[in-house]
Order: sequence, then C-alpha cells, then structure tokens
Amino acid sequence: MSGCKTVSNEEILKQLDYCQRVKNILVERYPDGYKAFVHIYGCQQNVSDGERLKGLLSQMGYSFTDNVNEADLVLYDTCAVREHAEDRVIGNIGALKAHKRERPDCIIAVCGCMTQQPHVAEKLKKSYPFVNIVFGTHTQYKFAEYIYNNLIKRKRVYDIPDENLGIAEGIPAHRDSNIKGWLPVMYGCNNFCTYCVVPYVRGRERSRTPDEIIKEAKQMIACGIKDITLLGQNVNSYGKGCDFEMDFADLLREINSLEGDFVIRFMTSHPKDCTEKLLLAMSECEKVAKHLHLPFQSGSSRVLKQMNRYYDRQQYLKLVKKAKELIPDISLTSDVIVGFPGETREDFEQTVSLIKEVEFTSLFTFIYSPRKGTPAAVMPDPVTAEEKSKWFTELCKVQEEIAATRTKSYEGKVFKVLCEEYKDGVISGRTGTNVMIDFLADKKYLGSFVDVQVTKAKTWVLTGKLLDK
Ligand code: SAH
Ligand code: SF4
Repeated sequence: MSGCKTVSNEEILKQLDYCQRVKNILVERYPDGYKAFVHIYGCQQNVSDGERLKGLLSQMGYSFTDNVNEADLVLYDTCAVREHAEDRVIGNIGALKAHKRERPDCIIAVCGCMTQQPHVAEKLKKSYPFVNIVFGTHTQYKFAEYIYNNLIKRKRVYDIPDENLGIAEGIPAHRDSNIKGWLPVMYGCNNFCTYCVVPYVRGRERSRTPDEIIKEAKQMIACGIKDITLLGQNVNSYGKGCDFEMDFADLLREINSLEGDFVIRFMTSHPKDCTEKLLLAMSECEKVAKHLHLPFQSGSSRVLKQMNRYYDRQQYLKLVKKAKELIPDISLTSDVIVGFPGETREDFEQTVSLIKEVEFTSLFTFIYSPRKGTPAAVMPDPVTAEEKSKWFTELCKVQEEIAATRTKSYEGKVFKVLCEEYKDGVISGRTGTNVMIDFLADKKYLGSFVDVQVTKAKTWVLTGKLLDK
C-alpha cells in the first residue's frame, strides 16, 4: 500500500556505499580532516531530517563546525512556510558567494521545502551558480550520491522529483542532544489548508511501520534519551492507507509500554482528527506529557471554512472541553494566524475571545504570509499590513496576560523536570506542561529527572529550587 511504501534495502545499501566512496576521495584530499557546516531552518520535521543528513555526512567522514568560514561543505535545509523564512535563506545563500571565493573546493548544498518549489529551484539555478547541489524533500537519503557525483563529474547536481519514492529506513541519525530526540512517525500532509505550502513541498501522507518506530524508540532509550517527541504534520493520520492495524493512540500506548524512565511528547494534532481515543490514551499513559499542541488557526468559523480546516469554533471548543475533562492538568498550546485574506475585525475578535476562553499555556502566532500556488494567495486581501500588525500585537498582549496568570499559579508547586541544559551553574528544563524552568543545580543532574519547586514565575519562564533527592 502507498501509505507506508519504503525505499528498497538495496538502494539504502547503495547510498551507504556512496558514503564510503565519498570518504575515500575526501580523506585523500583533506589529510587533516574536513568539516561540514549544517544549518537547519524551520520546523521540527526539518530538524529531524537534519539529523539523518548529518548522519550521512558523519558516515562520509565529516566532522561538524559552527563556523561557516572553516567549512568544506555547507548545507542549508530550508523552510518555505512563510515568506520571511524564505527571505532569510536567500540572503544567507547569497552571503556564501564570498566563502566560495575563499574556498573554491567547498561544496555548497541547499535542500528542503524551499527548493522543492520549482520557482525557487529555478532561481537558484539561474542566479546562484556557486551552489553545487540542490535537492528537495523526497530524496534526502541520496545526499552522498549527490556529493559523489559533484566530486567526480565536477558538475552542479539538481534532483528535485515531485513524487515521494518511499520512506528511507536505515539511514543513521546524528543527534545533537543525548537527552531529548525527535522520532518521526509519519511524513507529508493531505489536508491542503488553503494558506499552507506544506502539502505541495512535502507530498502525501505516509507512515513508518510500528516496527521501525518501536525499534528507533528503543535505540533512543538505550542511548539515554529521556524525552522523545513523536513527529508528524498530523500525527492523528498515522497509519491511514497502510496495511497494519494501528492508529496513533495505539502507537502511543505501545511506546508508553517500553521499559525505561522517559517522557513522550508529540506534535502536531489536527483538531479535525483528534479523537476521544487519543485523549484517553494521553490520560492513561503515565509517560505521555500532559501537553497537547492543538493548532486552531482562527477563532472564526467563517475564516476556518475559508482555510479548509474542517472544524468550526464550536467543535474546537467542544474538543478542548473534552480534553480538559479527561486530562484535568492538561496544558494546551496552539498555532494561530492573524490576517488571513478577508479576515475582518469581527473575525479577529473571535480569535481573541477563543484564546481567552481556552487559556493556552503558549501560542505560536503568525501573520498570514501568501504562499505561491496556494488557494489563499489569490483570495482578496483588503486589510493593510499595518492593520494586521496592530491586531497581531493586540493578540500577543492578550496571550501574555493569560500566560502570566497561569505561570503565577505555578508558584510553590512542585514539578518533575528533566534536566536538559546546563550553563554557569543553572540547569534548564521544562515542566510536563511544557513551560521552561531554570534552577541552580550541579551539572551531574543533566539528563535526569528531578523534583523542582517553583519559586518565581515570569510570563514564559519559571525559576525554581531543586528539592533534595
Ligand atoms: N502541520 C501543522 C503545521 C505546520 S506549519 C498543523 O497543521 O498544525 C506550522 C504553522 O505555520 C501552522 O500551524 C500555521 O499556523 C503556520 N502557517 C502555515 N502556513 C502559513 C502561512 N502561509 N502564513 C502564516 N502562517 C502559516
Ligand atoms: Fe499545513 Fe494544514 Fe497540513 Fe498543517 S494540516 S501542514 S497547516 S496543510
């Protein structure tokens, strides 16, 4: 079935062989070693893809650097979700021209959602001749082959098929953190929200098999990872069109039953597919964080219809009510767009009232950005950018007050916190409800769960005290 097609084993072995062939060439060219600078733009899906791309680079013998000036290979994995993100990437690619002049042998590669759009690929071809390799989102497992061809043929490599050829299993991941990690469960999106470019650049939904996911979860746990985030554009579509009988709620229970002390998170849940079964699994699985990211996008049913979201305001609020009933300590976060084409002041006020009613822990707020090829890009859009920007500020202020009240209510409470980062005597982590918390503690606690009492709450960050173990 197409929903879970995989790239053949032979093809993966061929790609791992390309890694070795590239390594043989580069070891000779750079006897003192060679470095890659990898920059990932955009969402967690890209970060997760980046771990596989870095895994391949690592197999090719590259070490990694944060200093682009000393890089022998530069890779940008790009984001196309908003214009602002695209502008930044284009600016940064332009800036590489000087680097290429300094180090003519440096390989410059650009991939991801931006390059998957034909007009961008064309622009790179015409106006950025110093970019050596351009590929999209569907063939990232072929990165070593692209590098090999570039090295051998000394020709620019462009490979951007529009169709996905299957999920590539067996590509090693190079993870930046050994405390928390991303675990993709599905790729692509079938929803075609009218503002969104994702279905065009990421292709149709396809799920990894439960076996592959469980295998990777076990590997992550064995490596000491304590915070696993299951990833998908709409995790609630997990398993659709596949020949196994498992939905996302079942998968959560399976991962929850694995041995070990770890927390499970997931994103994103589309409200139209968020079922009571999933909420029950969340409430009953002790390792699943009581945090639900449930993007509502707009509080106006009229705008939601225009957005092609398949739920209205009432249905969203009903779902939130159910979630709060089944999981009393639930923390809700969301995405919201301000200034969708044709959105009126009344529509916007509906969004503000929904925010007040739900009391989200935090929000990702976006001003609508027209995306070429999407239906919304050609809808009449009479509200000025200035007006949208005022609405945006107003909305952020409302959310700030809600967040401040919520975090204030945390003062004195005790949370189980995973120690994620350490700097200058301070450990940072997150509460199960996904609020950042800082506290004085020794570095030795990194990677372990500790009890922390909240001593002071700011709007977005808590300060706490480590309780004796
Ligand atoms: N699959 C996820 C979202 C992926 S994109 C979901 O459906 O929730 C992340 C967020 O970017 C979206 O939720 C939306 O709020 C925002 N977004 C997407 N396209 C946008 C656009 N054209 N303009 C502004 N924000 C956009
Ligand atoms: Fe975009 Fe909608 Fe798919 Fe999310 S569900 S990726 S917003 S089309």
